Amino acid sequence: MRLLDLHNLNQKRLQALQSAGIFHPEDLLTFFPRRYIDKSNIKPIRDLQETGEPVTVIGKVKSTNVSGYKQKKRLEVIVQDSSGSLKAVYFKGWRYFISQFKEGEWVALYGTAKRYGHYMSMAHPEVDRVKSPDDVGQYDTLIPIYPGNKHFSKAYITNPTVKNWVEQILQSTTIPEFLPKSTLERHGFYNRDEAFRKIHQPKNHQESAKALERFKFEEFYLFELSMAKIKNVRVSRTEGSILKPGKLTKAFFNEVLPFKLTNGQKHTLGDIKTDLQSGLQMNRLIQGDVGAGKTVVAIGAMLMAVDNGMQAAMMAPTEILAEQHYQTIKQYIEPLGLNFRLLTGGQNTALRRDILTDIEGGNCDIVVGTHAIFQEKVKFHKLGLAVIDEQHRFGVKQRNEILLKGDQPHLLVMSATPIPRSLAMTIYSDLDISVIKDMPAGRKPIKTAVRTDKERQKIYNFLEESVRTGDQAYIVFPLIEESEALDLKDATMGFEKLKRRFPEFRIALLHGQMKPDEKEGVMKRFVEGETQILVSTTVIEVGVDVPNASIMIIEHAERFGLSQLHQLRGRIGRGSKQSYCILMPDVKLSKSGRYRLKMMVDTNDGFEIAEADLKLRGPGDFLGTKQSGLPEFKYGDIVEDRLLLEQAKNDAWSVIKTDPDLKNPEHKELKKVFEPYFKEKSEFFGVG
Ligand code: ADP
Ligand code: MG
Repeated sequence: MRLLDLHNLNQKRLQALQSAGIFHPEDLLTFFPRRYIDKSNIKPIRDLQETGEPVTVIGKVKSTNVSGYKQKKRLEVIVQDSSGSLKAVYFKGWRYFISQFKEGEWVALYGTAKRYGHYMSMAHPEVDRVKSPDDVGQYDTLIPIYPGNKHFSKAYITNPTVKNWVEQILQSTTIPEFLPKSTLERHGFYNRDEAFRKIHQPKNHQESAKALERFKFEEFYLFELSMAKIKNVRVSRTEGSILKPGKLTKAFFNEVLPFKLTNGQKHTLGDIKTDLQSGLQMNRLIQGDVGAGKTVVAIGAMLMAVDNGMQAAMMAPTEILAEQHYQTIKQYIEPLGLNFRLLTGGQNTALRRDILTDIEGGNCDIVVGTHAIFQEKVKFHKLGLAVIDEQHRFGVKQRNEILLKGDQPHLLVMSATPIPRSLAMTIYSDLDISVIKDMPAGRKPIKTAVRTDKERQKIYNFLEESVRTGDQAYIVFPLIEESEALDLKDATMGFEKLKRRFPEFRIALLHGQMKPDEKEGVMKRFVEGETQILVSTTVIEVGVDVPNASIMIIEHAERFGLSQLHQLRGRIGRGSKQSYCILMPDVKLSKSGRYRLKMMVDTNDGFEIAEADLKLRGPGDFLGTKQSGLPEFKYGDIVEDRLLLEQAKNDAWSVIKTDPDLKNPEHKELKKVFEPYFKEKSEFFGVG
């Protein structure tokens, strides 16, 4: 069957369909109803009540009458069944409706009943002409209501037209199945043909919901098949070097590190050790809330590389963070007598040349840096392990790029944005995941409060007292790209005001437009405790660690996203002191603004917050960039439908495990559908 075989389809309508991306009858079938109406609730007129619920009545047209003047005309129809009579009233489109009512003929009206004076009436009921009161077989199934579409409306393609086309297609076609039979049976899904019928012509809402499940599963399944396939391709061709913990690693954990590892850190290190000795390339994601202590785990992993005569690299998304990692590494690695370098974009040419020579010549065991490490000029002597911190800030492509810098280096990526499990499973399902759930001992949960401008004096008094007794504080202003200049003014003015208010304190300003060495200087003085109050835009957002900072005031708090607020708050509460986060919104709060702030007050749990944020913003926005590799699903929602996603993942991965090339006869149809799908995906993920 072709689209052109459909009744009622002229050239203009064909073009409209094509503009809407519909080229084949099956494409039209994937145009799913937005909702359904149920006309099966048929009532005698006498039993009608003003419930507000729509119902159906069937009666004979007794009379029609047009009254009123010009624009204010209206059509009144009296319809009668054996129990009573009802008045149907139409204001708009009465010319059309009058053609639907012929005296003495049967009609079915669908609408909500309301009493006006003598009559029970319905305003603008839907009308179907029927042959007799029993002629309502069409009401056995729900009536699909298709989503609006500008191409459709231009070509006068109405809901009944679409409905009718779909009926024609379903009558003349059987849609082939491609999911393995065993999978269908295990989940009790409709087969593909049935599912299309049930989505367009369900008997009840359960049927349409069940049909939709199948389609969600199907798209999750294809996606997960490709993830499994990518991983499979990678594993089959990547031998990783075998790295065993040696002297350095042991010395680090037993002698240098001043604290005991948390259980989460221990098991994550255990996972890493296993990976590094497996003979395969490690691809591991460490997920842990801010402050969970991911850095020392990464250092441990890097030392395992150095213990085996290889280099390690660690990438951070900002210079400040790279600098901080460099300082941490310095603290821990210097006593071990290793060579390490910092590589950032802001360094001068001579210094850079020197660093690059060291890296290439193998005179540098560990490199810490920013995106600068990805540059072509950077060549490693023997890169054994690459660590990417705050990995959601980097694209999937970059993740793969760093792997080209060595001979199958192991990869460790870390994320402090606690990505809900469901999401991590989808976007990173080619990675293995370790989660650090517990926080280092002795941390006190941060106390968060929302305060208004009226309470500013009180807050400043509190700030004054705390800083006087040795605490440090952050005061954060938003920086949103579109209005950068304006926001910068905000931060600068805030800074000036604070200096006037607290002349005795050492206050500094930090923002993204400062030169890298200026920024570094400011940050350094704050880290060292010299600066007491740091006024800043969101450049401090990621990773920065100052355990003595225990107060954070966030101005215009409603302008931040939920995850961002949580990230910011993670800068405090890193020491043993009680920390306070004070959110200062503008007076006017939107509903979602209020919700975000309330979430922040209610919980410190990054996973819970991430979950809520994901719901608020949807997965695409949540991760910020298209590069994140997040697939767009047409039917499924990775948050709402996470169970289904998990099932699809399990099924898909076990198929690829036992039948990677889909040669098994049971997978014959699947192969046909999967191959073109996978081709697209593998290019996307940079695995050819
Ligand atoms: P994140 O996971 O956010 O990257 P960091 O690695 O920056 O966290 O660690 C936060 C702080 O906690 C650092 O000051 C670090 O030295 C400290 N820390 C890490 N692990 C432990 C531990 N097991 N016990 C005590 N302090 C720890
Ligand atoms: Mg970190």
